[in-house]
Formats: sequence, C-alpha cells, structure tokens
Amino acid sequence: MYPRVILKGTLFKKSQQKRRTSPCNYKERYFVLNTQDLTYSERRPGKKPIQKGCIELCRIKCVEIVRSDVPIPCEFKYPFQVVYDSYYLYIFAPDNDSRLKWVRALKEETKHNSLSLTYHPDFWGDGRWRCCGQAEKLAPGCSEYYPTGTASKKPLPPTPETQPRLSSSEQKIVVALKNFSSVEETDIPLHKGEEYVVIDSSEPNWWTVRDKDGNVGMVPCMYITEKLLNNIEKYEWYNKDITRTEAEELLMNENKEGAFMVRDSRQAGVYTVSVFTKAPGSNGEKNPRVKHYKIRETMSEGIQFYLAEKYLFSTIPELINYHQYNAAGLITRLRHCVSRDTGNSPRTKEIASEKWEVDPEDLTFGEELGCGQFGVVLEGYWRGNKVAIKTVRKDSMSDEDFKEEAKIMMKLAHPKLVKLYGVCMQHSPICLIFEFLENGCLMDFLRAKKGSFKQEDLLGMCLDVSEAMAYLESSNFIHRDLAARNCLVSEKYEVKVSDFGMTRIVLDDLYISSEGSKFAMKWSPPEVINYTRFSSKSDVWSFGVLMWEVYSEGRLPYEYRSNSEVIASLNAGDRLLQPRLCPETVYQLMQWCWKEKPEDRPSFALLLHQLASLADL
Ligand code: ADP
Repeated sequence: MYPRVILKGTLFKKSQQKRRTSPCNYKERYFVLNTQDLTYSERRPGKKPIQKGCIELCRIKCVEIVRSDVPIPCEFKYPFQVVYDSYYLYIFAPDNDSRLKWVRALKEETKHNSLSLTYHPDFWGDGRWRCCGQAEKLAPGCSEYYPTGTASKKPLPPTPETQPRLSSSEQKIVVALKNFSSVEETDIPLHKGEEYVVIDSSEPNWWTVRDKDGNVGMVPCMYITEKLLNNIEKYEWYNKDITRTEAEELLMNENKEGAFMVRDSRQAGVYTVSVFTKAPGSNGEKNPRVKHYKIRETMSEGIQFYLAEKYLFSTIPELINYHQYNAAGLITRLRHCVSRDTGNSPRTKEIASEKWEVDPEDLTFGEELGCGQFGVVLEGYWRGNKVAIKTVRKDSMSDEDFKEEAKIMMKLAHPKLVKLYGVCMQHSPICLIFEFLENGCLMDFLRAKKGSFKQEDLLGMCLDVSEAMAYLESSNFIHRDLAARNCLVSEKYEVKVSDFGMTRIVLDDLYISSEGSKFAMKWSPPEVINYTRFSSKSDVWSFGVLMWEVYSEGRLPYEYRSNSEVIASLNAGDRLLQPRLCPETVYQLMQWCWKEKPEDRPSFALLLHQLASLADL
C-alpha cells in the first residue's frame, strides 16, 4: 500500500551541524509528511526536485514548538522541532497557523512511538541549552513532553523524575475570561476561569496555549488574561511562614500607627494584611490592636485583588502600594512595613538615623527666601553647600510620620529631583535641608521671563519634569502635588521637581482633604477630587496641567473660575484650552493626561519618550 500524503509545503530548516565548524544555515525545503515518513527536498525552478532527507516516522521521539526569543535569521519565524534518534531537526514555518498544523499532524502520526518524556523547549546555543542551561547536548529535556495534541488521549501523569523543571516564574500562565469554542482545527476551546500555559505569544491576537490536559492550540487573546504571578517574596512587607499570633506580637512591639505586614493566611494560597492601629474601635475592641484583612480575589476582568473595599489591582504589590497611600476602607493606611528579618535592633535604627539627621551645629541660617505652606524657607549653608532650609511648624505634622517620610524622600535620587540632604530634628521648628536652586520657583520664573522663551525652552522644561516623574513612577512613589509652584529652576535653567511626598507628612486637613481650601483642586483628576484616590496616573493628570502652565508662561489654570465651576466643566468633558504658544503635538499630550479614566492616561515613561522625540525634531 502506498503511503498517504498528510501535509506538504515549503518550510525552512536549520541544517544539522555535522561538523563543529560548519556554519549554522537555513535552507528552504519542500516538506512532505506521509503516513510513513517526513521527507524534504530541494526544489529548483525547471529542474527535478532532489530529496535531501527522509526521517521515518517510527524514529521520531518528540515534535514540539520551540519557544525562544533568539532572533531567527530566515524568512520564516515560527520554529518547531523534530527529535529523532539523537538528532534535533529545527523547522521554521511561515506563521503560527502553519506551524501548529505541522506539529499537530506530526504528533498525531507519532503518538504511539516510544516517546521522550521530556524535551527542550528552547534552542541549543553557545554550548548550552538555552532553556535549562545544561551544557551537554544530549542532556535530558527540562520540560514535560505531551505526545498528543488532542483530548482523546490524556498524557500520563509525570513521574517524579520527569516533573517539568521549568520554574513557574518562567512560565506565563493565562486565565480564560470567557468560554471560547474552537472555530478552526488549530484552535482549542477555553473554559472560563481555567488556567493555560502560554507556549507562544509572538502573535498579537492569537496565542498558542496548552490546557491542563496537554492539548495545544490557539486561542484569541481577547478571551484570556495574564495571571501575573504574585512574586511577593522579594518585598520587605512579606513575611513568609509567620503565624497570626507572631504577626500580632511583632506589630504590637513596633507600636506604630499603620505598622503592617503581609503574611500567608491559614487558607492555602491566600494572603492576609495585618495592620496595627491605635484608632478607637467601635464595639469595645482592644486598643491598640492589630486588624487582619484577607486579600480577596475577583474574576470580573481577569484576576484582580482587593482588600476592604473594591479597589481592584492586578497584582498584590500594586494593591499594597495603593494602600500605602490610601486607607480606602482600612482602619489606617499602610504606613510602616514590619519584617521579621530586618529585625528592629536599636543599633540598625541608630545607624540609619545618623545618616539623615543633620546636626544643627553644621547649619548656617541665612536670609528668608519665601514663605511656604508649612513655614518659612531660608537660605543657608550646610557642610560647604548652599542649601534651602525649609522650616516646618511642629503642629503641622506628626513626628513619627515625618521621620519615615523623610527617610523615603532621601532615598530618592535623580538629577531632576531637588535633593533632600537631611532633616534637623533637634532644631525647633524642625527643618528639611534641600539642595539650593538659584532661579527659584518655576511658576515665578515663568511669569518673570514671560515673552522671552523659545519653543525649545518650554519643551525642555516639560522634558525635565517628565524625567523626574518617570523616575518617581518607577520607584512607585506618588508626588501628589505636582504643579509649577512645586518645581524649581537651577542656575543652568534646568527644572527640578520639589516637594515630592510633602503632602504625606502634613497633618493639615485643609491641604489633604479635597474639601480643604489649600487642596490643589485645579491640578487634580476626578478620582482624586471624588475619592482621594492618588496614583502615578493622578500625577500624570497634574503633569498635564503643569505643561499647560509652562506653555501659558505661568498663568493660573482656570483663572477666573471657582473650584465648583471647574468640577462642573470637567464633568461635562471640557478641558483647559490650548495655550497660544503650545504646538498641537504637545496639546495632544496634555489632553492624553486629562483622560477621565486613569488607565487611559499615558505613563510617565511614555510621556518622557514622546517629549524626547518631539525635542529631537
Ligand atoms: P512650600 O512648598 O512649603 O509651600 P516653597 O517650596 O513654595 O514652599 O518655598 C517657598 C519659596 O522658597 C519658593 O517660592 C522659592 O522661591 C524658595 N525655595 C524653596 N525651596 C528652594 C530651593 N531648594 N532653592 C531655592 N529656593 C527655594
């Protein structure tokens, strides 16, 4: 009986390295799969094809997609592998569809062979397997091999030796948002809520995934969401293997409002946030006490996490970061993380504080520069540096918060951020010691030099601020009060961002609360005005207003309108108008910053990129 042809078509193959020195090259071949073998031939126009290879199907041990990020130097970019005897043949298909057809057909034809139990999902290169790093070409595979692509035959459960060695952090897992029924032969169905391992995500709309039974096929990306693995072990606030009682003990010892940690809940796979508070309880609760909040999950738009109220986040670190700034239903915001490992040895604390405490003996106080929100600002000297000394009235902030915030602010260092050198607690009022910037506050500078700016000056100012903000964004730090009045101008006319984090150390409700008279309503997005919901994306809105201030040369936004009129016009979809000096491209960026929904606004990283490319023109 003649063998029946199953599939045929042009593919590329990587030629076998027979000799070590032979270069690795890619050849176009015409492949034919029939019920007996897989052959490939060279086809030349007008000539008879020459068969270049033939692999009997009974010798094939593994057929699988190659998951790799190495650039593929031939026209066809979708690799799969055929492992037979001890050879690896790499074949490249023109698209994912075609690759899947070949892999499926080959698997189907070889599924009864005595197959490998494991395989290498990536290429061999530079003397090692790229997937597992093993330096022996014949080293056993590092991933479990599924010999069949159809549900009709489930793979055998792996034996302990053949457990996939790919760690979960290397695997991308997705969860189905909806049910999906296969339309084409190369698809597999999706069942809402089930997890799938991503095998190939190079296609923008259709990914190749493997379900729990080992079936491989394509699914529409719209129907799945990435399960961001909550790699939380690296975070200081996470305490692995700590009991509720131990957590309570540590937090009570710390005795600080908002001291918190994340720990494993008794229920496997669930986490709990434990937080210390001195706030009075409602029904005779102990005071002070530790409250425990379970981190809950919901599946409405992919897996999302939340705590007390439904403020949803796709990862636990994002959720914690948010609640470090916003109580949002918790008894207090998460202020100081407590970790069992860092310990609270008095010695470490002492050393840390030495670095940020400035000795008043080293300070020389000079003339008054201006009057700030929290007190007078003086010029001065500290260890030979000209500095700005910001005094803070004692009643305007809590001592404890102040130290913690100042420590965080000191850790932030970027050429476009005004450097905080240290704080002086031994002086009354308390002082913050900042780098001195000769040309003072940006808003005053813009007004004073009105009419003299070139386009590149204005764009350069926005670019400077976006650099600082992209840095704060990447440090998970929210400014909360970005505006031209809170930026300063250096001797070389660079703009630097100042006052970052200051709103977190003041107790002044007029400043913090959206109803307060000092609240920067005209720089705030709707979610801050309505729910005090700060984020890097609320900073992005403020940055849009700052760009507007720059291009208006220091005008006040919505100058003749009251706060309530501004809210009404924002709700109606109106935005600040395009300043006369502002090019269309920049105004488009401003409007992007003022999108109603925070998630529709660009990140600072993106804004920086856009502004930089405008500056290059
Ligand atoms: P606050 O933010 O507390 O309201 P400001 O930062 O507005 O205070 O400070 C008041 C004034 O002091 C500013 O307008 C500016 O002229 C001056 N000033 C503040 N910080 C510096 C600094 N680092 N270098 C030079 N001048 C400064």
